[in-house]
Amino acid sequence: MKERTLSIIKPDAVKKNAIGDILRRFENAGLTIVAAKLTTLSKAQAQGFYAVHKERPFFDSLTTFMSSGPVLISVLEGEDAIQTNRRLMGATDPAKADAGTIRKDWATDVEKNAAHGSDGPDTAKWEIGYFFSEMDLPNRL
Ligand code: ADP
Ligand code: MG
Repeated sequence: MKERTLSIIKPDAVKKNAIGDILRRFENAGLTIVAAKLTTLSKAQAQGFYAVHKERPFFDSLTTFMSSGPVLISVLEGEDAIQTNRRLMGATDPAKADAGTIRKDWATDVEKNAAHGSDGPDTAKWEIGYFFSEMDLPNRL
């Protein structure tokens, strides 16, 4: 099914000049980039995005990291975009990520793990709406 997902190339991967290589992987897998912005999140914006994790012990460190430098936020569209992006990223912990995945190739550790991808249709819709407006994304799915 054609669907959309939210991707974030995290500050660690942006610092490694990996934006182009990572977007290339999305496109090579048949995903289309339908909206994108390069921005630096405030701590409050990162806290809002990761609110679902606010009780986790790593929440403060994670949101400090996510607001530590520029990120490339994009909306990817295609058949099974959510699972395709998750497969391209690999496991949350790069030590457990398959060879050839984004996290295996660029992550530093389980926190500084190079990329974010929505984990399901409901979170994808919420996450896309958190960063993009109707004007950025004409409703043409
Ligand atoms: P994913 O990004 O693979 O969906 P989660 O939703 O479980 O993973 O966690 C969100 C983010 O929180 C991860 O991508 C990672 O940056 C960070 N994180 C997850 N688990 C840990 C952990 N044990 N220690 C530090 N940071 C973590
Ligand atoms: Mg998640």
